[in-house]
Amino acid sequence: MHSISEKIKITGKASVEKSTFINDEALPSATTIFTCCDCGHKNTFEIAPYSSGFPIFQLYHEDKVLSKDELLQHGIVNGTSQRMFHFGELTVNDLPTLYFGTECSSCHSKYICVFSYGEKQPGLMILNISGVWKYEELK
Ligand SMILES: [Zn+2]
Repeated sequence: MHSISEKIKITGKASVEKSTFINDEALPSATTIFTCCDCGHKNTFEIAPYSSGFPIFQLYHEDKVLSKDELLQHGIVNGTSQRMFHFGELTVNDLPTLYFGTECSSCHSKYICVFSYGEKQPGLMILNISGVWKYEELK
């Protein structure tokens, strides 16, 4: 699990086995699987709320890693509704949104996972994995 600081290009999307975790399902961590779109390897990964990931803002700030348009076009995030704007301009499910970089443990293709976690309604905590996308670094 690492941050990404260089400009990247999204080149594919992996399928994710389970992407929504509610309340206790996400604690202490949620475990799911993404299938590499290059080699088909099933990669198990874990998201621990409050300790996994980096703010999504770091990607689109000054279009540094991915532009807002690219994030929206690939369906990675949505525009945040006005009353949740304090979570940032782009979010998943109107909740605090994070990302991390990872790779296929078999063929080492690079992937980015984007998810959100927070209280959707009183007593309802949701971890929502938007998806896992394959990327390449642009030099
Ligand atoms: Zn692979």
